[in-house]
Amino acid sequence: MDILSLNIKDTNILLQNKRISSKELVSEYISRIKKYDKTINAFTSLNEGYALNKAEQIDKKGDFSNPLCGIPFTLKDNFCSKESESTACSNILKDFCPPYESTVVKKLKDSGAIVLGKTNTDEFTMGSSTETSIHGVTKNPWDKSRVAGGSSGGPVAAVVSNMCMFSLGTDTGGSIRQPSSLCGATGLKVTYGRTSRFGVMSMASSLDSIGPIAKSAEDIAIILRYIAGHDPKDSTTPKVEVPDYIKHLDNNIKGLKIGLPKEYFVDGIDKEVKEAIETAITNLKELGAEIIEVSLPNTKYVLPVYYVIVSLEVSSNMARYDGIRYGLPSKQSKDLVDHYFQTRSKGFGKEVKNRIMVGTYIHSLGYDGAYYIKAQKVRKMLLNEYNEAFRKVDVILSPSTPEVAFKIGEKNSDPVKMYLSDIFTVSANLVGMPCISIPCGFTTNNLPIGMQLLGPQFSESKILKVANTYQNCTEWHKKRPLL
Ligand code: GLN
Repeated sequence: MDILSLNIKDTNILLQNKRISSKELVSEYISRIKKYDKTINAFTSLNEGYALNKAEQIDKKGDFSNPLCGIPFTLKDNFCSKESESTACSNILKDFCPPYESTVVKKLKDSGAIVLGKTNTDEFTMGSSTETSIHGVTKNPWDKSRVAGGSSGGPVAAVVSNMCMFSLGTDTGGSIRQPSSLCGATGLKVTYGRTSRFGVMSMASSLDSIGPIAKSAEDIAIILRYIAGHDPKDSTTPKVEVPDYIKHLDNNIKGLKIGLPKEYFVDGIDKEVKEAIETAITNLKELGAEIIEVSLPNTKYVLPVYYVIVSLEVSSNMARYDGIRYGLPSKQSKDLVDHYFQTRSKGFGKEVKNRIMVGTYIHSLGYDGAYYIKAQKVRKMLLNEYNEAFRKVDVILSPSTPEVAFKIGEKNSDPVKMYLSDIFTVSANLVGMPCISIPCGFTTNNLPIGMQLLGPQFSESKILKVANTYQNCTEWHKKRPLL
């Protein structure tokens, strides 16, 4: 039996029946990581001793009533957790050992899940390809000359390569969904505030959200149950009840109304992506869903609006890395200003500096109204448009990305080209709504294609149910790359 390809539920049954031990499971994963991660480069740190130790303790207790107990997972390298350093894949945080843990990590550890290691991301999660990481690029497990996407390229590559059962990522403009689409994983960006951001390094505070990346919607439903909810340490997490997502996964989408925004089905989408999405729409129709066209006219402004908001919030969040509060201090500085200058010049990479400069400019005296406030107004118009669409439909379907995984190096000299790969993902962050990316096909040269299902705020149950129903009658999410 190949225990690494099982889902959470089946692994839990084996653990409960003592057919395998958590230690065996962890050892299997560690051997696989050691064998294959040299070529994939998904991991930035591996906690071999820690993970085996934890597994042993769990086996001794022998209580696997929590489905996550004894299950190995990974974290994107921007989560604070105590078992290893958290670097955000930046020089400025090289060797940084967090003195505290993020709420979501603590919740998973309390459930008995075991952190195998941290995984690669673009520096401070700014990017769509992991090419800006100090640890080097993560290769797409389906074609190693291509990117795994980003910024959560490491977490996603680790999941689809069976190097962990699931991972936690962050999504500010698509960083969970775009790599999930490019590598064939299932990734959920939750409603803004559904999961606590406490202890996770901020990129843009009004857009950041934390969510699971896994092998199926069913696994995501299990994980979400244990990480969602109000946290007194994050005032943006409302006291909205956390449903038992698994209970709501029933296989019935008869009469469900799926909206297709006409602005998303335009020229510029790869032909094979378009065909795969059309087939998925037909499948959903056959399952009883009703397809309705909707219009979201402000979609044409989402990228400029996103990049204005993101840059401003990035420039503010990055201010704490000054070599005094956080960040490797410069040793040769003449005075305080020079200290800041040296630390930040040496510590940050090019993309982070670009965003700090753009953000500082649009934030400078007299310019707020011209850029940031205007962008926030368009953001509000966009939210109204989505709310209006949800009067007619239950969920909105679109491709996750306009094209499949691109070649390493293909876009990194042209930021605008890189930014365009987020064209379909950023809206969900601007309107704070939940959105899942699931595999829905492969190109003729064997590269995964993903589709998104987006729902109104706090409708995770609904989009998980649609995704699960689709996955119960398709096999795309079960396909694994030959490493
Ligand atoms: N690729 C997008 C960006 O670079 C999204 C990043 C993210 O979601 N963290 O801004």
